[in-house]
Amino acid sequence: MTKIYSFYSGIFADNALEFSKRSSYVREIMLERVYPRRIIVPLRQGLGAEAIPVVKPGDHVLIGSCIAVIPSGVIGAPVHSGISGTVKSIQKITLPNGISTSAIEITSDNKRTFHDSIVPRQNLDINAKTVMGIIKNSGIIGMGGEGIPVIAKMSRAKKYEVKELLVNCLQSEPFATSDLHRINESSDYVVQGALAVAGAIGVKKIRFLISKNRKAEREILESAIERAKKIFQLDIEYEICLFKERYPQGYYRLIARALYSVELKAGEILENTVGAVLFNCSTMASCWDAIKDGFPMFQRVITVAGDNGVLHNVLAPIGTPISEIVRAEFGAYDSTNRILWGNALTGIPVKDLDNTPIIKTTSALTFIRKLDFQSAPCLHCGLCSDACAMDISVDVAYKLIERNLKDAALNENVLSCINCGLCSYVCPSGIELASTISNFTTEYKLKHTSNTSREILKTEDTLSKFSDEWNTLLNEVDSGTLLEDYAEKIEKDDSEEDYIVLPFEGGKKI
Ligand code: SF4
Ligand code: SF4
Repeated sequence: MTKIYSFYSGIFADNALEFSKRSSYVREIMLERVYPRRIIVPLRQGLGAEAIPVVKPGDHVLIGSCIAVIPSGVIGAPVHSGISGTVKSIQKITLPNGISTSAIEITSDNKRTFHDSIVPRQNLDINAKTVMGIIKNSGIIGMGGEGIPVIAKMSRAKKYEVKELLVNCLQSEPFATSDLHRINESSDYVVQGALAVAGAIGVKKIRFLISKNRKAEREILESAIERAKKIFQLDIEYEICLFKERYPQGYYRLIARALYSVELKAGEILENTVGAVLFNCSTMASCWDAIKDGFPMFQRVITVAGDNGVLHNVLAPIGTPISEIVRAEFGAYDSTNRILWGNALTGIPVKDLDNTPIIKTTSALTFIRKLDFQSAPCLHCGLCSDACAMDISVDVAYKLIERNLKDAALNENVLSCINCGLCSYVCPSGIELASTISNFTTEYKLKHTSNTSREILKTEDTLSKFSDEWNTLLNEVDSGTLLEDYAEKIEKDDSEEDYIVLPFEGGKKI
């Protein structure tokens, strides 16, 4: 009998809350493209340092042009233009998640001209060093939310000699189907991207984690795996692991609980506890975009959904302002909507549509009706705590925060909050639990990010200093993401045995 993995708490997607109905994947809706008139590309979009611009106002750029770089030895991701046009300005912006960063504004010339470097790779006899170099230079960061540069995670996986690569296909937020779209339309890219990453870090087992309810996507993945087996004939073990449909589902600590029955403590990571590294399925597809087609990360698929039942997946250049997506009239939006930068339960309300761009980690834009709903006193029903997958006594923590009893709130484990939004969703009194806890933890984390840390993020400081600061910081705040050395190692890593076996068209087996 097939084993079904799961964990306690969270909520079932297929229950009376009708999540499955609201988030069902509408296969008839094909991918649509957004061609914005302008883009605003933030130079820091995930964990790591802000990239340094290599263009100035007046410069002409093409699709795929590198417009900002990361100095050697610093963790971060270079940035590329998703349109051809003219650099208009470099300005400071603040993203809805509070990240303050410089951003390059580019106006389109409407020619959609690609940079010369974007050509399919003819020779795919590539070694680990090349794979890692491509991924690093393509600016690929985790697309599932945290935005860790993929190269940093690969380096960490090598360091801990992990045995398994996990591909997260567990997208479970209401409405969101961008990952599922990627599986449906680019399953070979998901599987072969994972294969290349596995080869580069020396892993022999790839496990695809997917909800048992996603039968179509599961079968498509199985077919892609069979094709990969035939083409590459590698000594790699593949496994599809079925999970119960639940929300929240794909967070690494919940995966550790479900898959390995391991409770990760604050600061612990999968790599050095269970010997696995986790990547989102869209991230794997983007790696293959870069390796096979020469595409740096200048675009992504996002779900554009509304609670009026409209659901689209669109391919948009990174940096597309939300107003340009609204302008494209996908039917999900009307002017009475509240617009969320992200998913229905975790998204952040956006006010300035013209100057809020989508970034590499934006998987959805959600348009929901503004409902006038007065919150009521707590009923002490305990639903919020029952739903919380991180075992937080949510009602207690909420009251402590409201009374400014910070230490007591910290004792309630609030720093483990993954901001899934579920407590607010299930609360019959309509109390803003999630945002209260999230604001408290964000403030705490920012306060405990020392000035030195902030400075290091902005400067070209050395890798070791950077890593030390991050490790200290992240241990403190349980981000679970120890970012470690990668860049220098990659430069030095040139041994024959690092060749991965990718015998593509006509390629030789190395
Ligand atoms: S938002 Fe935080 S506190 Fe609320 S259910 Fe999710 S993890 Fe728990
Ligand atoms: S779900 Fe709402 S009403 Fe129930 S205990 Fe939690 S805060 Fe109170």
